[in-house]
Amino acid sequence: MMSACDGLLSCPDCRADLASPERCVACGREFEQEDERPNLMPSSGGSVSFEWPVRAFNPATIPDVEILRFPPEHGQPREGIYHLDRAHEACLKELPAGSTVLEIGCGGGQMRKWMDERGIRYIGVDVAVDRVHDWLRTHGGPDILCDAHVLPFRDESFDAVYASAVWEHLAFPQLAAKEAARVLKPGGVCLGSASFLEPWHDASYYHMTPYGVFMTLSLAGFRAIQIWPETKWPGFRAMLEMGNKATRAVRGLSWLIYGWYLAPKAAQAWLRNRRKPDEQALLHPIAEMAGAIAWIARKSDSRLTEPAKTPD
Ligand SMILES: [Zn+2]
Repeated sequence: MMSACDGLLSCPDCRADLASPERCVACGREFEQEDERPNLMPSSGGSVSFEWPVRAFNPATIPDVEILRFPPEHGQPREGIYHLDRAHEACLKELPAGSTVLEIGCGGGQMRKWMDERGIRYIGVDVAVDRVHDWLRTHGGPDILCDAHVLPFRDESFDAVYASAVWEHLAFPQLAAKEAARVLKPGGVCLGSASFLEPWHDASYYHMTPYGVFMTLSLAGFRAIQIWPETKWPGFRAMLEMGNKATRAVRGLSWLIYGWYLAPKAAQAWLRNRRKPDEQALLHPIAEMAGAIAWIARKSDSRLTEPAKTPD
């Protein structure tokens, strides 16, 4: 039977190419099915290592990085897809038909129909089938169960990797970013968002500042990074929303409190900029209180970016 994953799978234990999601011919590992989908979790954990650069990461000193004050595209996604940022939507719409997209933490697989309609070869993965609300499960759920730290896919398989509100739930987000970079084709895009000032939710480990997102992506080798605060989800709103009925009843007040916080900060930044332009200062009033941070990052394409060798 032809499946969306044909020709893309690799063994999570030995990294050999998998011809079928039932068994690895190279190491002999048999994979279980869970709720009629392959479970390609690794049988044990691995080790994590990174090359640490001598200089600390500072986005202001690195070309091709934009920390934006506002999202690059505004407004709700026209098609009202759960959790889909407008800028991510625009980026995904640029992919030609036949492109391959991996969604990590796909939940109910609610993006599948949208991708299918665009002729995108879509694969949704998650850690479990029963992690999301029943109303999301009606979308068919993940194609594959796996661990974002050990993706069961071959190198350079995807044109885009999308992970919305996922990295804060991972034990090693930097490792997951490295895996995303590994399975992306050169020039492929990594799109995602992570919690910043949201209270503890659904077992979250590492919430990220814009700089944290930048460092995570940079460590994984991504370039041409855009990072922006989610303007519709300030921390005040997130806190009231995640409380109880009583706090949710007054969530409208969060905009008032946010405005109260923002106005003097913005005035201060404006006055400072009149004397001395400072782009980073422009970022802070909104990003400081963002409930979540979003990004678009591109894997470098050495065929395009490497300077031509000059003869010695
Ligand atoms: Zn194997």
